Amino acid sequence: MTDTRRRVPRTDALLADPRLADAARRLGRTLVRRAVAEAQHRVRNGGLAPEEAADAAVAALPRSATSLRPVVNATGVVVHTNLGRAPLSAAATEALRTASGPTDVEFDLGDGRRARRGRGALAALAEAVPHAEAVHLVNNNAAALVLAATALAGGREIVISRGELVEIGDGFRLPELLESTGARLVEVGTTNRTHFEDYARAVGPGTGLVLKVHPSNFLTTGFVSSVPVARLATLGVPLVHDIGSGLLRPHPALPDEPDAATSLDQGAGLVTASADKLLGGPQAGLLLGRRDLVERLRTHPLARALRVDKLTLAALEATVLGPQPPVARALAAREAELAARAGTLAAGLAERGVAAEAVPSEARVGGGGAPGVTLPSAAVALPAALAVPLRTGDPAVVGRVHGDRLLLDLRTVPEEDDATMLAAVLAAAAPPPEEA
Ligand SMILES: *Cc1c(COP(=O)(O)O)cnc(C)c1O
Repeated sequence: MTDTRRRVPRTDALLADPRLADAARRLGRTLVRRAVAEAQHRVRNGGLAPEEAADAAVAALPRSATSLRPVVNATGVVVHTNLGRAPLSAAATEALRTASGPTDVEFDLGDGRRARRGRGALAALAEAVPHAEAVHLVNNNAAALVLAATALAGGREIVISRGELVEIGDGFRLPELLESTGARLVEVGTTNRTHFEDYARAVGPGTGLVLKVHPSNFLTTGFVSSVPVARLATLGVPLVHDIGSGLLRPHPALPDEPDAATSLDQGAGLVTASADKLLGGPQAGLLLGRRDLVERLRTHPLARALRVDKLTLAALEATVLGPQPPVARALAAREAELAARAGTLAAGLAERGVAAEAVPSEARVGGGGAPGVTLPSAAVALPAALAVPLRTGDPAVVGRVHGDRLLLDLRTVPEEDDATMLAAVLAAAAPPPEEA
């Protein structure tokens, strides 16, 4: 026991290893010490020779100072909430780096005075949605709804259809979110059918706003009806439309998904949406619409608690102005091209002894958008036993398990990641070095 202890390399000796010293400058001492402590622990337990401790600590170092790990999304779910929703475009990622240091987010470099915070991002959005007289940004769509409810209906009533009292995920329910602001909900209609007269009867002097919510994560079919925006806009009170997924304009592949331009054109006073779903940007909440309503929200004290940071502003501006973000590219990808990529990948794997086959697949929008829509796709089918080594590899590759097969769906994988994925599958399929 004493003998083994004495043989455990000292912390300062290990930290003096040039590789670990360099890592300490790059990642910070906490993470390097953690890797060192783990290696020492293995030596103490007899699982590692003392002279191997430094190498083991180097091997255990994280790639970066965040515990978040990069993932190749091969699930076929375009906007995957558990994988961080929309991946950013290269332009948006570059914008994050630009904005990470001191930046003129709230400063006019021309005259040296304070300037409107995030004016570039706001202008880009306003330009993209000309129907909006004004725009404002908050932390996410839930924050946009809270701000609208507080500023326009605090202590008053929100009229909403019973068919639109939705749960948005992870147990969060829109009605509870709205009531938390002190507004009272006046539910109208039934689960399956709500008529204009239901709203008209409920609207009165106590009404702060009428809220229309896009049922973005479920479908109702059969004996159903709801009231279009154009009718609700005639009720004489502010109409707030939560369109959910953040399409700014109609999307040809998603005809049933509402978009901001159309909703405003039809008379919505305010549109709220997420920026990290179909818009393909960073997490943020969009508020677009009538100038007077946006001003009431923007100047409300709560607005300060919900404001977005400079990184979000930078990434959002680059998403709106820049090249197609990955979400848009995934939606637009042609089935034949996906099939060709799956064929190339499967052949490359089969050549190296991995049981792989190109198969047709069905991708989904996911993430609270276009429920029920399937997008024809192509996948590489592998033995299901590869799911765990791929998921725990570096980078992690997450697919879908179907019976005894793991499907890697290519619609959600940017083409430039094919080589990375091929290498990851080969690594996952290779026998561990001890047995090789
Ligand atoms: C996703 C969604 C929300 C919640 O948006 P967050 O940006 O996650 O806060 C609210 N309403 C609808 C209709 C949604 O689809």
